[in-house]
Amino acid sequence: MKIGLFVCDCGKNISGTINTKQIIEYFSEFSDIKVLGDPYLCSESGLNKIIEQVTDKNLERIIIAACSFKLHGQLFRKTIEKAGINRFLISFANIREQNSWVHPDEPEKATIKAIDQIKMAIEHVKLLEPLDVEYSNVRPSTLIIGGGIAGIKAALVIADAGYEVSLVERKATIGGHMALFDKTFPTLDCSICILGPLMTEVKDHPNINLLTNSTVEKVDGYIGNFEITIKKNPTFIKEDVCVGCFDVCRE
Ligand code: SF4
Ligand code: SF4
Repeated sequence: MKIGLFVCDCGKNISGTINTKQIIEYFSEFSDIKVLGDPYLCSESGLNKIIEQVTDKNLERIIIAACSFKLHGQLFRKTIEKAGINRFLISFANIREQNSWVHPDEPEKATIKAIDQIKMAIEHVKLLEPLDVEYSNVRPSTLIIGGGIAGIKAALVIADAGYEVSLVERKATIGGHMALFDKTFPTLDCSICILGPLMTEVKDHPNINLLTNSTVEKVDGYIGNFEITIKKNPTFIKEDVCVGCFDVCRE
């Protein structure tokens, strides 16, 4: 398996602490690794260099020793895809945020650490399998567990945006701890004066399915398509008839 290792200087961000030349020399001794350095790997010339090397050296897997995956990971994935390698056959050694930036006073140890990070990336990249990107439909509805003030507010924001919300609360009423407070900081408004109208809004909102006295029993499925089983405990009242008077049923 031919592996391409690209080591970035990031100007002086990396090479100001880590000895990137030493790293290149070190990995040049590995027979299955083709190693190349670049001052700015995410620049147009740096990306073109990756594509050229993949083609010229018939590289099958890539390691990027540079910044965090979060910053340019997708860019490098797209770049190797342009060069004809499956975009998931790439591994990243974060030698900037996780190394040079945090060890500016210990350049020698930082260089040894970078070598270790790259060795780990080499072992990782060898184990990777090509993957396909697939798309599936997402059901744009939300389950919120817990009917305290956070759950209430989240439910209203999502429901006002036009999406269906199920709000599950294990107790007989929503409101949570806030319903028990006298005043709220910093305005010293009475707690129920703020909470009460929101509770009513939740109950009456056409996009909110309020499930009190209920608990989540089971969660199946995956992100965007969860299947949730909810257990609704009996309240011993007819909810569609009850008017909250505490009187009618006694008569
Ligand atoms: S790839 Fe990352 S580490 Fe390299 S120059 Fe760009 S930002 Fe800096
Ligand atoms: S007495 Fe009033 S509050 Fe209680 S269950 Fe009957 S209608 Fe509802």
